[in-house]
Amino acid sequence: MKARSLLYFLLLLPVAAVQAQPEIRVTFLGTNGPMPEPGRVGTSTLVEAGGQLLLFDAGLNVTQQLVETGVNLPRVDRVFLTHFHSDHVAGLPGLWSTTWLRRRSTPLYLHGPVGVDAIARGIHAFFAKDIPVRINGPEALPPGGQEIEVVETAQQGVVYQQEGVVVTAFEVDHGADVGTAYGYRIDYGGMSVVLSGDTTYSENLVAHSMGVDLLVHEVMGVTDAMLEAGLYRSGVLEVHATPEQAGQVFAETQPRLAAFTHIILARRPGFETMTPAQLLQRTASHYEGEVLYPQALDEVIIRPDAIMVPGANLQ
Ligand SMILES: [Zn+2]
Repeated sequence: MKARSLLYFLLLLPVAAVQAQPEIRVTFLGTNGPMPEPGRVGTSTLVEAGGQLLLFDAGLNVTQQLVETGVNLPRVDRVFLTHFHSDHVAGLPGLWSTTWLRRRSTPLYLHGPVGVDAIARGIHAFFAKDIPVRINGPEALPPGGQEIEVVETAQQGVVYQQEGVVVTAFEVDHGADVGTAYGYRIDYGGMSVVLSGDTTYSENLVAHSMGVDLLVHEVMGVTDAMLEAGLYRSGVLEVHATPEQAGQVFAETQPRLAAFTHIILARRPGFETMTPAQLLQRTASHYEGEVLYPQALDEVIIRPDAIMVPGANLQ
């Protein structure tokens, strides 16, 4: 009888697993901008949905951060780039090589705006002396793992769809010099996440983010004193979002949870730097809801009936 109960249990287990609540898990691998700072990590975001791992941007230390999450590294084989600024791609060569060293045997899939093929070619050129050694030497790495399958996105729309997980690219406004820059929306099981990429206030982002479960927006904090001193005549604030602009986006879209990433707190000699509390205060002048100010490795778990933020810095 006991054996029979055990059998039933084993049979029922997979069914129970299938019937478990769907969820989207978002891990902020890093939330800093391009300038390295003690204790902070450049921007990358890992999204897990339907058993699939999708990586958005590849900041400098992305591989180490993935290892810190405990993820099986070779499973991270699909990367979506928002644009080609160095702080979004600098970690890519290391990710490609180490996932292969951990015996990824299939291509790394690389999504991004037109021109992303140059990055794939660059990685192969960078490692040209290493690749044959890894294949023909004692490691005998699977040759298929060195390949990069480029998926160029020429215009906004659905860029990935597999087993209920849908990724949609939409254009944002990161300035004319950069050209095409995308934000991404991930839909799964009736839930949705939007990652802004780098952008100033974007009407198109608002249109793609109405009522999403989690809206992750970039932000740049520049103090009034810095602006009055004319330190930003280059127009950097025309390609990034002020806390007030981000607050406006949150207010217009009303996400279940709002969060920041790519958080730049501008530093200039002789000027005080905006604090996280001041940045959130400025955001709050335009948006009454809660705004998450994540540290590296903080997570958000989205389920149909709840959003969980284990151990994060909710201010
Ligand atoms: Zn950028």
